[in-house]
Amino acid sequence: MTNGPTGARDVVVVGGGVAGLSAAVFTARNGLDTLVVDPGESILRRNARLENFPGFPLGVDPRRLLDLLGEQAAEAGADRLDARVTRIETIDPGDDAADGARFVVETDADERDGAVRARYVVAATKNEVGYLETLDGVGILDRGKSYVDADERGRTGVDGLYAAGRLAEKPHQAAVCAGHGAEVGVTILEDDDALFYHDWVAPEGYFTDRGRDVPPGCEEVNADERREREAAALDAIPERFAEPHPDPQETHPSLEE
Ligand SMILES: Cc1cc2nc3c(=O)[nH]c(=O)nc-3n(C[C@H](O)[C@H](O)[C@H](O)COP(=O)(O)OP(=O)(O)OC[C@H]3O[C@@H](n4cnc5c(N)ncnc54)[C@H](O)[C@@H]3O)c2cc1C
Repeated sequence: MTNGPTGARDVVVVGGGVAGLSAAVFTARNGLDTLVVDPGESILRRNARLENFPGFPLGVDPRRLLDLLGEQAAEAGADRLDARVTRIETIDPGDDAADGARFVVETDADERDGAVRARYVVAATKNEVGYLETLDGVGILDRGKSYVDADERGRTGVDGLYAAGRLAEKPHQAAVCAGHGAEVGVTILEDDDALFYHDWVAPEGYFTDRGRDVPPGCEEVNADERREREAAALDAIPERFAEPHPDPQETHPSLEE
């Protein structure tokens, strides 16, 4: 599909919290043109110190983690639009004007950038569902807060629409929602019938020395390449943690003056 700030995309991820960004890492790394639309309001920004996210034994600033996830999605090739999705409409993918897209995703930045068309939409907006109300076939669950009815892999009642993270009723934990976002990303790759086996980086020879082709989605990396990638990470990562995160601590809106 074509690129550009908006236009037509393979995947539009609505919500760039932990679930949405994790989904985008997987779809973008595996060749789907991915746009994340997000106004920067992840609830994780209210956390004071994230001490149960895998891989950070001394905890991590939650705003830093969101920055790193955003950087990882961008590194994978995903674009980001700082905007709020206001409405989604379905279109007939057989329609010549639709570019194979199933959805038109409208945002509050449309006057500036125009609406986005997409073949797949990942809804990852925690309890925000207003933009889904015009879509026939989405099960909205009202349990005090709103959720989207989805199967274990995030598929909803609308072909091409997936729900990820808290919105799909996953436990209110960052690691679980990130993991579910990743699962939804992989589900899209599988449902897309793209050539895909696993998103793995394996040592040189892991497959080929056993007489196998490197499966689609996998990569074999030799020792020089592995050291080069490690050196780049060792060079870049300490700077990310050199200073406290500049953003202020956020809290519940009812506690703000
Ligand atoms: C005070 C507090 C402390 C917490 N501490 C912990 C903890 O220590 N450990 C832990 O595991 N979990 C913690 N959590 C829970 C954790 O933050 C959530 O479970 C997790 O962030 C949910 O991930 P998500 O991606 O589903 O939602 P979010 O991270 O909230 O992401 C949703 C995204 O959707 C975007 N969005 C909303 N509406 C729209 C729209 N219309 N268009 C486009 N984008 C939209 C928002 O900007 C946001 O970025 C804490 C939560 C709070 C409130």
